[in-house]
Amino acid sequence: MHQHSNSPPISLKKRISIIGGGSAALAFAAHINTEKFDVVIYEKNKALGRKFLVAGAGGFNLTHGSNILDMVKQYEPQDFLEQALLQFSNEDFRHWLKVIGIETYVGSSNRVFPIKSIKPIEVLQAILKNLKHKGIQIQTGKQWTGWNPDNFIQLNGSEHIESDIVVYALGGGSWKVSGSDGSWLSFFKDKNIPNLDFKAANCAFEIQWPSDFISHHAGKALKNITLSSSRKTYKGELSITTLGLEGNAIYPLSSDIQSDLAAYGKAQVSIDFKPMFTEKDLLNKLEKSKAKSINDKLKTDLVLSNTAIQLIKNHLDKDSYANYEVLAKTIKQLPLTLIASAPIDEAISTTGGIDLEAIDENFQLKALPNHYCLGEMLDWNAPTGGYLLQACFSMGVKLARHLNDQVS
Ligand SMILES: Cc1cc2nc3c(=O)[nH]c(=O)nc-3n(C[C@H](O)[C@H](O)[C@H](O)COP(=O)(O)OP(=O)(O)OC[C@H]3O[C@@H](n4cnc5c(N)ncnc54)[C@H](O)[C@@H]3O)c2cc1C
Repeated sequence: MHQHSNSPPISLKKRISIIGGGSAALAFAAHINTEKFDVVIYEKNKALGRKFLVAGAGGFNLTHGSNILDMVKQYEPQDFLEQALLQFSNEDFRHWLKVIGIETYVGSSNRVFPIKSIKPIEVLQAILKNLKHKGIQIQTGKQWTGWNPDNFIQLNGSEHIESDIVVYALGGGSWKVSGSDGSWLSFFKDKNIPNLDFKAANCAFEIQWPSDFISHHAGKALKNITLSSSRKTYKGELSITTLGLEGNAIYPLSSDIQSDLAAYGKAQVSIDFKPMFTEKDLLNKLEKSKAKSINDKLKTDLVLSNTAIQLIKNHLDKDSYANYEVLAKTIKQLPLTLIASAPIDEAISTTGGIDLEAIDENFQLKALPNHYCLGEMLDWNAPTGGYLLQACFSMGVKLARHLNDQVS
């Protein structure tokens, strides 16, 4: 067919619609070949990357600095993200950020941050500038509201978009204010696409603290401890809150704790206040200590905080507290009972969403060929500290490269 010289050129490129404009979408869009595809991002908010900026408001851990093979081990399920992480590792992510003008550094505890002079909004702007330069189109105020009978996506209830490929990057189910409200799950449920209800991950958990304890110790931190669930142990820090416990030592145990809560209505964790010492070391220290009271021995010779000492006292009766063997054992293993998770909207991330059974190795929905899902909307989990954003970016890059390779 001949084209009339005045008519606009007809694009022979395949058309990709990305729904949702968060981290995974940005990574995909940045790596898809726009010589081969026409790409439009549809985001329901007025701007892209609100959750990315929420992450930036705290310690902005873009990724983690450890060896990628060690990083892979932190994800659940481990094998799901392995290929994506190996294809676009933490080093690749940092290199790409550098290319678009964002220098990063590895901070203490191996977390990777933008250098101090670069604000989170500037990281987002650099990514968006890169997308604009590539010719990615962005349409905001466009909420995906399901499919029409021909499986074309519908926006804002009425408008339908015909695309060759659809990439869903709709986020998890927490921090609704950022746009990631998880309400999209009902459309997949209606289509019988395997799915799971959202659960809070990387979140605080509830403990019934004695009221006297909480009035004196709320807001206090327990540093350099390890926390163990029935299956795992993590080193880090905990904050005592009126609800219970939060912090980077409990977040990675979220899925273990959630499954115990679902099975038994409660979950047991234990704190080791002195992970560098054995029970025997502590016993020796207690026996050799010249301090007069047990409180002083714990404070001066074992360098335990008032909060740690009070937690130990709450757990032991007077005689047990005076018994060095029991005391040493309790310092190494103080049990605590968790009775619920914090409200899901306050969680840093969620699990649940689209069941991994529903997708193939390239994140394509088995029930809807050429429709792909990326990011936190899929049912995987990782601790805080840069692992979440790294996974979203790695998934986006893996899918972009896969699609680029499909078209010669
Ligand atoms: C307080 C906080 C701190 C965090 N800190 C870190 C950190 O330091 N390091 C780290 O690695 N991770 C961190 N995270 C997690 C990280 O931000 C997320 O895991 C990541 O942003 C998820 O990316 P995503 O692309 O899957 O989804 P999102 O970034 O959530 O994007 C999804 C997008 O889809 C849009 N959307 C939803 N429904 C529709 C619809 N129907 N139609 C159109 N658009 C829709 C949303 O508006 C949103 O813009 C933090 C999260 C929180 C809440």
